[in-house]
Amino acid sequence: MKLHLLYLEDNSDDVQLLRLKLSREWPECDTLVVVNEADFLAALKEGKFDLILADYRIPGFGGLAALAFAREHCPEIPFIFISGVMGEDVAVEALKKGAADYVLKDRLARLVPAIRRALQEAQERARRRQAEEQVHRIQTQLEQTNRDLLRKNEEIQNFYHTLSHELKTPLTSAREFISIVIDGLAGPLNGRQLEYLGIARQSCDQLRVCINDLLDATRLETGKLAIHLKPASLSALIRRVVTAVTPTAVEKKIALTADVQPDLPEIPLDEHRMTQVITNLLNNAIKFTPAGGKIVIKVADAPERPELVQISVTDTGCGIPVAEQSRIFDRLYQVKAGDATSEAGVGLGLYLCRELVQLHGGEIWVQSQPGQGSTFSFVLPKSEHLLRANLLLIDDDPQMREVLHELLERHGYNVHTAAGGREALEWMRHQTPDLVLLDLAMPDLDGPATLKEIKKNWAGVPVIIYTGYAESDLVKQALAFSPFTLLAKPCPPAQLLETLHKVQRAGDTATWKRNHFGLMKPRLKKPRRPIVRTRKSAKLN
Ligand code: ADP
Repeated sequence: MKLHLLYLEDNSDDVQLLRLKLSREWPECDTLVVVNEADFLAALKEGKFDLILADYRIPGFGGLAALAFAREHCPEIPFIFISGVMGEDVAVEALKKGAADYVLKDRLARLVPAIRRALQEAQERARRRQAEEQVHRIQTQLEQTNRDLLRKNEEIQNFYHTLSHELKTPLTSAREFISIVIDGLAGPLNGRQLEYLGIARQSCDQLRVCINDLLDATRLETGKLAIHLKPASLSALIRRVVTAVTPTAVEKKIALTADVQPDLPEIPLDEHRMTQVITNLLNNAIKFTPAGGKIVIKVADAPERPELVQISVTDTGCGIPVAEQSRIFDRLYQVKAGDATSEAGVGLGLYLCRELVQLHGGEIWVQSQPGQGSTFSFVLPKSEHLLRANLLLIDDDPQMREVLHELLERHGYNVHTAAGGREALEWMRHQTPDLVLLDLAMPDLDGPATLKEIKKNWAGVPVIIYTGYAESDLVKQALAFSPFTLLAKPCPPAQLLETLHKVQRAGDTATWKRNHFGLMKPRLKKPRRPIVRTRKSAKLN
């Protein structure tokens, strides 16, 4: 490799010696020697060098000043001092200011390895810089693509929404007129006319379901589908839905039965939306089960999870191929083979079921054997407390704990308090919080040490450091375990609450909560106002 050197040195013997030393390793070494500040600067501005060597003591031009110039004009070129005299403290200072190395003139044997290492490190840095630039370019492109896709998605959603509305009005009118004619209000009809109009009305009903599903799906996508949770009887709701769909089952010669555990409490429900979920599951079961089949809807405490209620719809229908089972809850997904394809629908039903169940704080899944039937099951929390975010407050000041506990409970959090890091970590081993509010200065295990453990074992849990010592060394220590959010204590309650909301939004704790649902414990139920949840707010709580 040809080496281009810039060498700041006023002693020609030293230059000669250096040339000799380097000639074996780099026979093609091209060295520009400069002897003063002006030439050094001019060379820096013009030439392209692989390396800069400089004597530490040039009359009228300090070594550190030369280093500073080089850092400013060509920060990527490695800089090595060669000096007859260089105390340790000066050498340390030089390294701190960006020199790659220093070599004493009486130890020139170190020179070649020092240059080799400096060149290698410079290459590494250049490669890293290039890789970072490329990542940055790709990231910028991705962000742009993401923005474009979001905009397009919004346009499509708006289009669906408008279209669905436009279709719904004439459809309703057509259905009403058909009903008027069927009811004989427009004159007498013969049997065949009645039969044909009945089919037309059924088609209108099917179309209406599709349009409503489409409207709900666009509302969900745009976070506009709000559900209103208030305590209601799931058993009564299920009996109503079963009564409503029984005629269709009877018509298809399918036996539909309900098996409801008698002592179920009221649970937080949006009755309209839960009716939609259960109707959908039962209609699917009827649709995909042949005549003579059986459907059972069962409601009971979830096995080994008394804090949840489980609803299962089991049919003896065509079943779902194993490979399709993980995708049937996807938006617009339909099974492509077998009897299923011949049936009406647009593949939004199960997608809506999943989203609505999740907005209730629950989870839905399927078990199915092709040819033998399917069981769709979902769980719902019995208590509204399971829907709230679990916050762990770690502070050694009992008064502060009490005040914050009261404030945060009042604003919709399940708060658990710990008087120190050790106690908090012990608690976290049994229950994972959605959010941690952490004081820094604590006697037992301090904030940074606690944060380190949290990041090591529960990396997904967002942490807010709430400290009266925002300028202190403790914050600097904590920085080693970032990311976290820093909030100065005391701050107005509104600011604290806003920060908590922002952090939760960023961390999508709904997903976190779903994954860790089993770790939450039910708490005593207090009477509360209904909670309004949209897909966006579900991410908040
Ligand atoms: P669609 O409205 O088109 O039925 P869904 O989202 O409700 O859409 O269902 C998606 C797919 O899942 C259906 O196309 C069907 O193939 C399959 N499926 C749903 N429920 C059942 C069931 N009970 N038995 C067999 N297949 C089912």
